[in-house]
Amino acid sequence: MSVFDHPEFDKHEHVAFCHDEASGLKAIIAIHNTNLGPSLGGCRMWPYLNSAEALTDVLRLSKGMTYKAAMANLKQGGGKSVIIGDPRKHKTEDMMKAMGRFVESLNGRYITAEDSGISVENLQAMATQSSHIAGTSAQYNALGETPTGNPAPSTAYGVFVGLKATVQHVLKSDLNGVKVAIQGMGHVGYRLAKQLHAEGAKLYVADIYPEGLAKAEAELGATIVAPEEILTLPLDVIAPCAMGSSINDESLPDIQAKIIAGAANNQLARESLGTALKEKGIVYAPDYVINAGGIIDIYHQKLDDSSDDAMRAHIAKIGETLVEVYERAEAENRATNLVANQIAEERFTTQG
Ligand code: NAD
Repeated sequence: MSVFDHPEFDKHEHVAFCHDEASGLKAIIAIHNTNLGPSLGGCRMWPYLNSAEALTDVLRLSKGMTYKAAMANLKQGGGKSVIIGDPRKHKTEDMMKAMGRFVESLNGRYITAEDSGISVENLQAMATQSSHIAGTSAQYNALGETPTGNPAPSTAYGVFVGLKATVQHVLKSDLNGVKVAIQGMGHVGYRLAKQLHAEGAKLYVADIYPEGLAKAEAELGATIVAPEEILTLPLDVIAPCAMGSSINDESLPDIQAKIIAGAANNQLARESLGTALKEKGIVYAPDYVINAGGIIDIYHQKLDDSSDDAMRAHIAKIGETLVEVYERAEAENRATNLVANQIAEERFTTQG
């Protein structure tokens, strides 16, 4: 298949196919755009069925990182890498080192970090070969926890400030008494719930496993709801914090909340559902804007002169960015996800 004619190619600057015979590494590194700075994006290891599937994934993901970085006010571009193979069966230290050498060969135009199938330990192996590996150690934490390198606290703080700004914009209210349904009580969902509870929000929570739910009920007074009902409740906000595509043709007709603001990636099963939400009068916080706390965290962990407060202040700007999106969407009578895409494009095509 020709890379230039690929449906997901979309003006990628550089796509590198990497093979290391000794370790068996087969990887693709995609750099979408570096107008704002070196490209940043995680390395994913996945048992792709073939190289075509891996190429489609890496191109789509690296483009997404350009948009995310631009909306997060980072002087970074978008890139991503994928390793073809089953992380449980095929991953070796030599393979990770070989990956590090390929990252190094791009001279800093691509900085890698963690994604599915890749651990901090794997990144540390890559870092023996390259100085362009992020997420190998952590110095700062947005929620006062001990820094571990897990960006979930920063993601949860970003979703919290974004949700709060959206409630203020749409309902003209603070969070006291606002009813929020959270789908997924995992790393991000629980931390979001905790912050919302501290500001008086009334919580409804669902998960497919009981641990997070029991904690939210006992510690935050949350009401436990069945997973199949969580998106349909008649309340103010739903926060998808589980898997992607939760807003789809099946769930859309039953959504009664006025706001959707959560952490999950790719919440809309297809882009045009953003317009369908607008037509229903539901304000949607574009996922890659509101969940950018994690990438902002990775960016700050690389800086020697940052701090917990500087990282928090940067993440807090997610609220302002969302209001910019909402105001423009209202003025142009367009869906928020489309307006976010346009603002991102304006930022990464006109700034240098
Ligand atoms: P996680 O795995 O810790 O939590 C997800 C939770 O959702 C789990 O408890 C899981 O049991 C639950 N779940 C799965 N299917 C469900 C269903 N049908 N109904 C209800 N609950 C369900 O993951 P996380 O780190 O908290 O991330 C949550 C989401 O946010 C993911 O979509 C992730 O891609 C996205 N995200 C996370 C980060 C981060 O920093 N962790 C950054 C950006 C985006």
